[in-house]
Amino acid sequence: MSKASETVLEIDLNALAHNYNYITSKLEKETKVMAVVKAFGYGSDAVMVAKELVALGVSYFAVAYAKEGVLLRDAGITTPILVLHTLPSNFDSIINKCLEPSIYSKKILKQFVAFAEQEQQRNYPIHLKFNTGLNRLGFTEEELPNILEELTGNQHVKIKSAFSHLAASEDKNEIDFTKRQLNSFKRIRESLLSAVSYRPFFHTLNTSGILNFPSHQYDMVRTGIGLYGFGNDLIENKKLKPVATLKTVISQIHTLQKGDTLGYNRAYKVQNTMKTATLPIGHADGISRAFGNGIGWVTINGQKAPIQGNVCMDMIMVDVSNIECEEGDEVIIFGTTTTAEKLSNAINSISYELLTAISQRVKRVVHRK
Ligand SMILES: *Cc1c(COP(=O)(O)O)cnc(C)c1O
Repeated sequence: MSKASETVLEIDLNALAHNYNYITSKLEKETKVMAVVKAFGYGSDAVMVAKELVALGVSYFAVAYAKEGVLLRDAGITTPILVLHTLPSNFDSIINKCLEPSIYSKKILKQFVAFAEQEQQRNYPIHLKFNTGLNRLGFTEEELPNILEELTGNQHVKIKSAFSHLAASEDKNEIDFTKRQLNSFKRIRESLLSAVSYRPFFHTLNTSGILNFPSHQYDMVRTGIGLYGFGNDLIENKKLKPVATLKTVISQIHTLQKGDTLGYNRAYKVQNTMKTATLPIGHADGISRAFGNGIGWVTINGQKAPIQGNVCMDMIMVDVSNIECEEGDEVIIFGTTTTAEKLSNAINSISYELLTAISQRVKRVVHRK
């Protein structure tokens, strides 16, 4: 890859393939993979990532909201797409673009069935979402008879799958809780299978679920963060490769003297002569203000340069007093050495948040390393 000459997020498709192969090595041969490409493919490039995953043999995609599925369809992706968070105002684009809604409440079920009828749909695929303890979206186990009653004899929709989502699959201290969730899902599966004459499929594991509870993979697993290179675990992280590398350049170098201040609110007060580098990336690009004032850092010519002063909207300033560098030099914000996980941990955040925060102003460059 050539050196950065502006702020870029590099997306390494070979790393993606490596991660896909690592995750599928944990699965039975028949288990299908649903790749979660919500939030622009965890901040990367949903379309490019999805196309690569199609080539790798993925069976399904998941997005959070309908418009993310529309984007994939408009880019020519024909793989089935589950919309995890269905909203009535999106029914139209869901059916128009052959997206498959997650149905999570009695209200949304009634509304979608009525819409499918109005649109003269037959056996439109729906996915029943069960709440087994996350308490975010989903039917309770007790609601199952009620759902079945609603659907019996209905020609307009058909249950394609039933699924649930684990609350703490990465947390070794919550194994008992996760097992309770998995048991509840098992009971739901058995009741559903005995109540319908066809065979919906079942899925509940996310990335950490696959890594920690592989015996519960059922027909399919849903992997997001693992595909992008993180396993929520030090050992698993070593097996995976970060897909995204955020780079920028040095725009200007300043020498500051004792008594000078740096940036907005004069937040940094210079004690000894220092050298700073100004970089063309700020909070509007996804670098949280929490990284300012020495909390976050970047890497220049292999050395760590702390972010000093407040993060500006479009720029940050870093301390390069002890680093040999010049204007135009490449700067790494996160990638394979300082990973998105490591950097995000400095502000008590997680890789998911930092990756998805990288705004659409940052150019995406897709390559194979
Ligand atoms: C985001 C999401 C996933 C993916 O989780 P990872 O931890 O990134 O693998 C799976 N299922 C649901 C319901 C989600 O919302």
